[in-house]
Amino acid sequence: MNRSRHIPEAERRLAMVRASFRCQEPDCGNRHALEAHHVIPFAEGGPHIAENLRVVCWRCHDLWHRSHASKPDES
Ligand SMILES: [Zn+2]
Ligand SMILES: [Zn+2]
Repeated sequence: MNRSRHIPEAERRLAMVRASFRCQEPDCGNRHALEAHHVIPFAEGGPHIAENLRVVCWRCHDLWHRSHASKPDES
């Protein structure tokens, strides 16, 4: 399986709009350096659709992946 890791811009934007362009971590709310995190990991078949994307800032994203270190390269 060799699906593209690229998230379609429309889906990424939709996820951002739903999150009101804020980090979705409850204690954060950062509006800058936002990234799209896959709720179901891409490596486990999670689709590139807004429903499967969680908007987090780079710091929360980095922290999340550090604390769930099994798939360090999954976005
Ligand atoms: Zn991620
Ligand atoms: Zn954050």
